[in-house]
Amino acid sequence: MSIVRIALDVPLPRLFDYLAPDATADDIGYRVSVPFGNSSKTGVIVDWTASSDQPVEKLKAATAILRDMPRLPADWLAMCEFCARYYQAPLGEVMALALPPMLRRGKLPRVMRAKKSEGAVPAVPKGDCPETDSKLRGVPKGDLLRGVSPAPPSDGLKTFSLPELLSAQHAAVGRIIATADFQTFLLHGVTGSGKTEVYLRSIAAVLAQGGQALMLVPEIALTPQLEGRVRARFPQARIVVANSSIGDATRARGFLEALNGQADIVLGTRLAIFIPLPCLRLIIVDEEHDASFKQQEGLRYSARDLAIWRAHQQGCPIVLGSATPSLETYHHARSGRYQLLELPQRAVAIAPPVVRTVDTRREKLQEGLSVALLAGLEQRLARGEQSLLFLNRRGYAPVLACPACGWISHCLRCAANLVVHLADKRLRCHHCGFEAVIPPACPDCGNIDVQPFGRGTQRLESTLAARLPQARILRIDRDSANTARKWQALLATIHAGEADILIGTQMLAKGHDFPLLTLVGVVGADAALFAADFRAPERLFAQLMQVGGRSGRAELPGEVLIQTEYPDHPLYQALIDHDYARFAQSQLDERKTAGFPPFTYQALLRAESPAMVAATDFLTQARAQALPLAGSAVALYDPVPMRMHRLMALERAQLLVESDSRPALQNFLAQWMPQLYSLKKPRTLRWHLDVDPLEF
Ligand code: ADP
Ligand code: ZN
Ligand code: ZN
Repeated sequence: MSIVRIALDVPLPRLFDYLAPDATADDIGYRVSVPFGNSSKTGVIVDWTASSDQPVEKLKAATAILRDMPRLPADWLAMCEFCARYYQAPLGEVMALALPPMLRRGKLPRVMRAKKSEGAVPAVPKGDCPETDSKLRGVPKGDLLRGVSPAPPSDGLKTFSLPELLSAQHAAVGRIIATADFQTFLLHGVTGSGKTEVYLRSIAAVLAQGGQALMLVPEIALTPQLEGRVRARFPQARIVVANSSIGDATRARGFLEALNGQADIVLGTRLAIFIPLPCLRLIIVDEEHDASFKQQEGLRYSARDLAIWRAHQQGCPIVLGSATPSLETYHHARSGRYQLLELPQRAVAIAPPVVRTVDTRREKLQEGLSVALLAGLEQRLARGEQSLLFLNRRGYAPVLACPACGWISHCLRCAANLVVHLADKRLRCHHCGFEAVIPPACPDCGNIDVQPFGRGTQRLESTLAARLPQARILRIDRDSANTARKWQALLATIHAGEADILIGTQMLAKGHDFPLLTLVGVVGADAALFAADFRAPERLFAQLMQVGGRSGRAELPGEVLIQTEYPDHPLYQALIDHDYARFAQSQLDERKTAGFPPFTYQALLRAESPAMVAATDFLTQARAQALPLAGSAVALYDPVPMRMHRLMALERAQLLVESDSRPALQNFLAQWMPQLYSLKKPRTLRWHLDVDPLEF
């Protein structure tokens, strides 16, 4: 008997056996198409056996083993298996996510087809790095540290010199490139401290030895700016760029190039963690604290955490870089599990921005703006410098309300308000996308004086346009930059110096240098100080550090003004002192007392259903079922409605599971999961498990 065991993209936690008379154990890792139900599916062969648990006469035969693509290598299969196990997801679902859509459908991009007619694309022998035709090999490590770029020896005349590394950078690169085994480094340094330079030198060392490097960056930070910098540094290297906006065929080609050992560098957002790299020697996760590394729907994996696992598996160093590391990462660095590499100063000779609070309890704000902030804006305008107002709330106003009867514009499908968008005269739900025209009168009492309450970026924009008519104002949020092209156009306008005041949400905070920017005003940040989510202060601190780091990048010193009713709050005080360590320590102390991560490990079982009672009933049953498995090491809380308890007309509830021990939690989840699948539930109820959830 010759039976292949296949991972199929089906929401069941199991593999599927098919007959395949021509198959051997060597076929593990090939894609395969099989009949499934009334149609067919493509999956991946993960095992080959001579016998099945199921009666042989019930097994169907595989249609075709797709040997036209190289086998997915063992380490790739192992990573998918780990991911499935850790996040309690079906292996087939993990692989469906990990493979580019075209390859998942059993196809190949065109160029690869052409090659196929000349014979199959050669597979990379397991555990053996192919000699790539990279011209980057053979540059001694010493040269890399001295700042000579790894130009090809053949036309070595093109060697251009790089800046002398600062001693802290030099030490960091030295430690990284001297590490041939697994080691997690935390590279901690503010924006402009030269982290990217450290990445590039470390990558250069890896390429010089014929290795491959993987660099992960947050969603929004993968800009042509960064890509350009990497390409300029490694003009000879083959660089595969991977993010969700890249076309199907290009994505598939990049995946195959990497798999064949032809790519030197993979630069991408979280999904790039799944790109196979047979000669992987270094992983970099830039802005490792960024929430976009954790997928928030479907398979809720953390690309950063998978990257650490992958580096461990591969036996190579991984560098996590950030100005404001996640508290999980910082905790590990402090405890010695990770090695801490500090870049204590900015690489270019400029002072860090001066951070000040503006106490808004003491004055009557003018349309939300203080005298000090307005004066700062006017001053920059007079000097021809740029300012940025950071307000993390898009739209005109967060709600429309009737002062006569108390009606407010709430979404009928979500537990949220409809946001006023005056630009196109609509009310919009930012959660489900529901839209309506702004009513001319109160729908409840007919009062025609309905009013927008609160302030969003659009309102700030029109306030400023009225007050500073001579200023060129640019609003940057998900409404004005809703396509990559618009976003690039806005960035170009800023860089050309054709804008005086930028008004933006967190979109603007990440990964961009604005040389003319000297003032950052922070408006409306206080709400996050007292938010219910215990991670809100961590996020706020990171955002404000990041947005503050936008100012004063070039020769011009920067200033940050934070409007607040809580000027003495320790979070703001730590920002004023540029003291991440103090802030992190105080947060860690609080977390320890409260028993929150990183001192505990969590998972959330979430259920959604048209009726709340069905959702909580399901969770109550799930909890009852789990209790005997939990033992003393795992705590099961009571099911509760989520804070945002309705989304898209579905009621949502959650059950928190917690343990001091990650293995104990993992063990428990592994036992609980199969039982969950067998739990009776109404057809309209959906559930999922979120391991290491970031949002509550
Ligand atoms: P980060 O990634 O921490 O924001 P970068 O690596 O982008 O920092 O460095 C900030 C700026 O300083 C860049 O323009 C970079 O080219 C420059 N830079 C970095 N290291 C050095 C150095 N050792 N000497 C001079 N300039 C440097
Ligand atoms: Zn009314
Ligand atoms: Zn809604």
